[in-house]
Amino acid sequence: MSVRSRVPRPRRLLGAVLVATLGLAGAVGTAAAPAAARTASTPGALAAAFDGAAARYDVPRDLLVALGQAETRLDGHAGEASASGGYGVMHLVSNPRVHTLEEAARLTGLDLPALRTDPAANVTGAAAVLRSYADQAGLGRAERADVDRWYEPIARYGGASDPAVARLYADAVYDLLRTGFTAGAEAAVTVAGRPVAPHRGALGQVSPTGGIGTLSTDYGPAAWAPASTSNYTVASRPTSHPVRYVVIHVTQGSYAGSISWFQNPAAKVSAHYTFRSSDGAVTQSVREKDIAWHAGNWTYNTQSIGIEHEGYVDNPSWFTDAMYRASAALTRNLTSRYGIPRDRTHIIGHREVPGATHTDPGPNWNWTYYLQLVNGITGIGSGTVGTSGSSLNVRSGPGTGYAVVGSVADGAGVSIYCQATGTTVTGTYGTSNVWNRIGTNRYISDAYVLTGHDGFIPGVPRC
Ligand SMILES: [Zn+2]
Repeated sequence: MSVRSRVPRPRRLLGAVLVATLGLAGAVGTAAAPAAARTASTPGALAAAFDGAAARYDVPRDLLVALGQAETRLDGHAGEASASGGYGVMHLVSNPRVHTLEEAARLTGLDLPALRTDPAANVTGAAAVLRSYADQAGLGRAERADVDRWYEPIARYGGASDPAVARLYADAVYDLLRTGFTAGAEAAVTVAGRPVAPHRGALGQVSPTGGIGTLSTDYGPAAWAPASTSNYTVASRPTSHPVRYVVIHVTQGSYAGSISWFQNPAAKVSAHYTFRSSDGAVTQSVREKDIAWHAGNWTYNTQSIGIEHEGYVDNPSWFTDAMYRASAALTRNLTSRYGIPRDRTHIIGHREVPGATHTDPGPNWNWTYYLQLVNGITGIGSGTVGTSGSSLNVRSGPGTGYAVVGSVADGAGVSIYCQATGTTVTGTYGTSNVWNRIGTNRYISDAYVLTGHDGFIPGVPRC
């Protein structure tokens, strides 16, 4: 039995962005007009953009897609800049140290507004930059056909000044090539997994574990990649200043890209810790005794620990169970060490800092779930789906009004990371308004799940 389907909520406006910017892309004319522009208003526009740019610049198509997936999950955010000045699905950057956006303009003839806002132009520009790096690295035609030969151009594209962070960046792209993925609006682009054995060159000498060799002395699970001394204030907390708050952020950029940005003296920002979306890995950039520049408010900076989470506020796919749980474990540890109450008065979002101009972590961050985890309610429940035959719809949120994002078969076993109250459903096991989160932004009605409990499962967090 499946829950009655509803019209899905509107997707991000890839088509509209393309239509709106085609005039710009077309105005530069001729040589640079991406092939994908012809199909820009169709659902397959992004896939066509990758195919066209890969063919035009002889860059492996899957490598190009994996780079975009690592940077933005193929979400161009309508041309808005990331925290480090990157644009579009390929995160072409214009900041004081990295200039891939301007390089793309020079190589393609496309103008800057098109490169920032038109997904097809943006993909074309990134392909051109990568090809120029491959040429400079001496890759010939046969070598260009081998994804494993592109490691150094990919690392260079990331723009990290620290070799360990450059490796972290490039490894993330190759990890995606190995696992494969489906991404983009309407799940438009798929990369099949494959074995990879990248030629890392000099970066092969850098520590491979998480890309960063030295561990944090403040928090055992964290790697250590120090921020530029231009981006924080040396202090001797908690003696010099009390630590009263934990401030939760979203990076508006990738994990490696954010760690790299904190190492850029031009950034004038930093955070103590940054978490990776895919697996909850964590890197520390500023010692807890020192004052990171993250809150936009000097008093709060001096009295807080800043924690960044890889992702963008408007795309909930970044907020994985793995990241929530790993971050909450750190916050639980911090609150214990500094005597900070585990409540929303002391564990706050950037947007709640007085005078904040930022909106992170935004409405897609699940505070209920996070605070439950911080307070030690960390169980993972299990259940068996029972529908008397049909598969059960999986939805993006706890209710029948949310988009269907998949299905689970009758009889399937599921892990339940948290439980939420949502729309009331009558199913195999009665009537219930409880919904089970069985994966990142994947919910099923508890009315169809045998958990051994009536409603909420003891020890499993609410969300
Ligand atoms: Zn923030």
